[in-house]
Amino acid sequence: MGRRPIGRARGGFARGGRKRGLQAAFDAEVAAEIEALVGPGAVDGLDFEAIETAARRRALGVAARAVAQRLNADRSDHRGPTFPCGCGKAARYAGRREKTFQSVLGELTLERAYYHCEACEAGLFPRDRALGIEGSSLSPAVTRMVGMVAAMVSFAEGSELMQELAGVPVDPKQVERTAEALGREIAQDERRVVEPEPPTAPTMYLGMDGTGVPMRAAELAGRAGKQPDGSSKTREVKLVTVWSAEGRDEEGIPVRDPGSITYSAALESAASRDTDEFPSKFAQRADREAQRRGFDQAQRRVVLGDGAPWIWNLADEQFPGAIQIVDLYHAKGHLWDVAKAIYGAGSDLGEQWAKQRRDELDEGQIHAVLAALQVHAQANEEARKCLDHVARNQSRMRYPEFRAQGLCVSSGVVEAGCKVVIGTRLKRAGMHWTVAGADAIIALRCCKLSGRFEDFWERRSAIGLAGAGGAG
Ligand SMILES: [Zn+2]
Repeated sequence: MGRRPIGRARGGFARGGRKRGLQAAFDAEVAAEIEALVGPGAVDGLDFEAIETAARRRALGVAARAVAQRLNADRSDHRGPTFPCGCGKAARYAGRREKTFQSVLGELTLERAYYHCEACEAGLFPRDRALGIEGSSLSPAVTRMVGMVAAMVSFAEGSELMQELAGVPVDPKQVERTAEALGREIAQDERRVVEPEPPTAPTMYLGMDGTGVPMRAAELAGRAGKQPDGSSKTREVKLVTVWSAEGRDEEGIPVRDPGSITYSAALESAASRDTDEFPSKFAQRADREAQRRGFDQAQRRVVLGDGAPWIWNLADEQFPGAIQIVDLYHAKGHLWDVAKAIYGAGSDLGEQWAKQRRDELDEGQIHAVLAALQVHAQANEEARKCLDHVARNQSRMRYPEFRAQGLCVSSGVVEAGCKVVIGTRLKRAGMHWTVAGADAIIALRCCKLSGRFEDFWERRSAIGLAGAGGAG
């Protein structure tokens, strides 16, 4: 047994002497279809786009018939009068049943051996399991396409792209169900499979951040939040990002290495108490991602984040000895907010104040920043909060020192990560999520954006085969 992996299509279709005959018949049928389509006239007057679109549809139609015939000719999924059911009893053979599947070739109607278990009422199709289409009406290749589009765009847009680009109709609800099921598999796979790699650079960076995702009302019942009545409209996704920044721009400032960034995120808590036996869910996630990227093995390790206490608690516990830096990009943004709160938006005075504070930060004059904030702390809430924030994080804001060591202090990677991974897909107008739905799509999107979709898909195919129970 064992899967004929990629490339199985070649020669895998028909065996021995029948192969050439089938191939010729197939070629002839496609050629005839195309000839009928184009007609006898000169080709210069043709609507090329109409021809290519129709030709694709017809060629795929011929292929769909050939594939269905080939699969239906094989009745080896009839394993005798009984087949072992998951419940432990024997399911009884009850004839062959038809089902139409949506494939990238179009619809395929397959006849499969059907077993019925009287003990638990389950119906079993050994072939569906062997081909990885159990409980679905979508073929593996369509499922994969749906996963890809739903990782990038809304379910409705994904449905439209499937039709427009692949010519495969999958309605938005089905895109949603399929993508969420796939996302749940990916989330499980992420927790199960940690294959440590060596670090890709001498200095590795790990960033953490949080962002609110709009939830359906039922998912928020009883949760405290920032709304005037104390309720909440969102729940916080936490994101861990790992990257390297060996490259330098014209001014010698470290820049993120293209392709070095990976993401992992979920609606998870980072809270932990000393009495807890295990680290928080999110701490475990950060640890898995660090292992995968060889963060722990790097010569130099840097944790970047904003001022949120949970980030630094987690960094102390999970990554002791790593250099801790408050992202300068974030710190400067914070000072801008204070300037706005004190002087009003768009005021010259405010702009001047913010610029001065930012220069002080750049030059490592934290005491000057603290003194300037102190002046307004009594009267202004934003200034007071920022004062607390800077005072608490002084050791993480030694920017001249960090720069002298060649470290990246203002990547914007961490903040951008939340926008790229979460915002552009999950925080669009009118979107409201369930916890399960959001987590599934976040897992799917992190997998895709981290360049891990192919690896996941190979593991998924291998598992499908292992579970096929001697098929093939
Ligand atoms: Zn059963």
